[in-house]
Amino acid sequence: MKSRVPILIANRGEIAIRIARTCKALGFPTVAVYSDADQFAEHVRVCDQAYWLGGAAPKESYLNVEKVIQAALQSGAKMIHPGYGFLSERPHFVEACEKAGLVFIGPSAESMRLMGDKIQARATVDSLKISRVPGSAGAISTSEEALKFARETGFPILLKATAGGGGKGMRRVDTEKEIAQAFEGASREALGAFGDGSLYLEKFILEPHHVEIQIFGDGKGGAIHLGERECSIQRRHQKVWEESPAPILNRFPKTREAMFEAALKITSHVKYAGAGTLEFIVDGKGHFYFLEMNTRLQVEHPVTEWVTGVDLVAWQILLASRELSFPTIPERRGSAIEVRLYAEDPESFLPAPGPLDLIELPSGGFVRCDSAFKESGEVSVHYDPMIAKVSVWGPTRELAIERLRVALDEVRVESPKNGKGIKIGSLKTNLRFLQKLVRHPQVLGGDTTTDLIAKHSELTKSPTEEMSLESAIALSLYQLLEGSVQASVALDENVISPWFSLSRREGLRP
Ligand code: ADP
Repeated sequence: MKSRVPILIANRGEIAIRIARTCKALGFPTVAVYSDADQFAEHVRVCDQAYWLGGAAPKESYLNVEKVIQAALQSGAKMIHPGYGFLSERPHFVEACEKAGLVFIGPSAESMRLMGDKIQARATVDSLKISRVPGSAGAISTSEEALKFARETGFPILLKATAGGGGKGMRRVDTEKEIAQAFEGASREALGAFGDGSLYLEKFILEPHHVEIQIFGDGKGGAIHLGERECSIQRRHQKVWEESPAPILNRFPKTREAMFEAALKITSHVKYAGAGTLEFIVDGKGHFYFLEMNTRLQVEHPVTEWVTGVDLVAWQILLASRELSFPTIPERRGSAIEVRLYAEDPESFLPAPGPLDLIELPSGGFVRCDSAFKESGEVSVHYDPMIAKVSVWGPTRELAIERLRVALDEVRVESPKNGKGIKIGSLKTNLRFLQKLVRHPQVLGGDTTTDLIAKHSELTKSPTEEMSLESAIALSLYQLLEGSVQASVALDENVISPWFSLSRREGLRP
């Protein structure tokens, strides 16, 4: 195998492990970095070298530009893969890498500035005459300004943090009287999360579907797309289920083509290098609006890897090392779905990290699990509480859903117990929620807007209510069979077995 230069992976958790796996397959030696909280972490174990950065707080370690660069120089690494989150979308980090003679695996600082900054990205997209969500031209500083905009465009509107990410600092406002309080709340939340309380606003698109296009650019204006993903199933404005192809675009195939065209136009215009994602909102009529660009690898990239067979991380690395002759648009096959298993309260969706005594994840049968946990460990309070991404492929969406149902039923996550068998620690997971989701008639029918979870409280009810909840889902399934709920999925007993058979046993009828 060709001798290769070492790559430093400036990240942790499942994504650091996933990147290391591809580096090894290509023959690149790997360098891990870690914080105090991650001394015994799996990503440290799988890499060839590991460098300590500092304290557990991200600012002292994974977000510390100087320390990461220093680790790279000491280790002899020549390239840096940023993963997602942390330093992946910071143009000044890209510049610091260049200054130190290191290759940043990703776009240039300039294209990151043009598209990574939400307000700047809107101006870029306007210059290309691509439709975007109507909104304020820039940041707004008072609730009166927000009110003026709302009166002109009409309610509902959405207040958003200029520095936003992860759905933080976002508030939907439906009436004039809510605006002052919402403005203050969103600004406070943004200040707490990003150290910047400035807000901008958008018209809230009704019946919203989140659809994004995976693109890949050569850095010189050449661009291809690798299809779309629909990520409409969200809680707290954050994705929890992602799939490709997008069910909403199956209803509007012309919209799909128009979105590909728009995505390629933007990618070419900013001379984007490597993997990136253009996010759009699609409404119930098939109109699409640009939302933002993520100038990095996306959490949900396995969905695209399943349907295209492309190793996106390999493409990123080979493009950065100038070994990739630019690829053509890959064919897409079948259907893939990913769900995110989180350490979080299944009702409030707030993080609930803690020690894990046992974890069992499925494998085989077109199931892929990306996780940093092997048998046990601890979901740290310091970082994102994701435990694993469970993804599946099937020749059809229905088969992918069946495989996901079986896979999720195999997952086991347990907290440690004391001598009396009582659970220790604060860990909670959304596993039961995901198991309900994969059986939900609306999800089976592929008709999911971003308010699905908020509208269906049966998905989030506590275990004490579970018997009646299961009956409620069985009831919905009966309605579906009776034709009172629209759905395009072929219902057979395998797809819906546990709750369906429960309802039959109980003789439950609508
Ligand atoms: P963040 O960067 O914080 O993740 P985004 O702008 O990507 O914020 O929005 C997150 C989610 O919020 C989107 O996927 C979408 O579901 C919803 N959303 C954002 N803007 C709008 C809008 N104008 N209308 C309707 N829903 C929206």
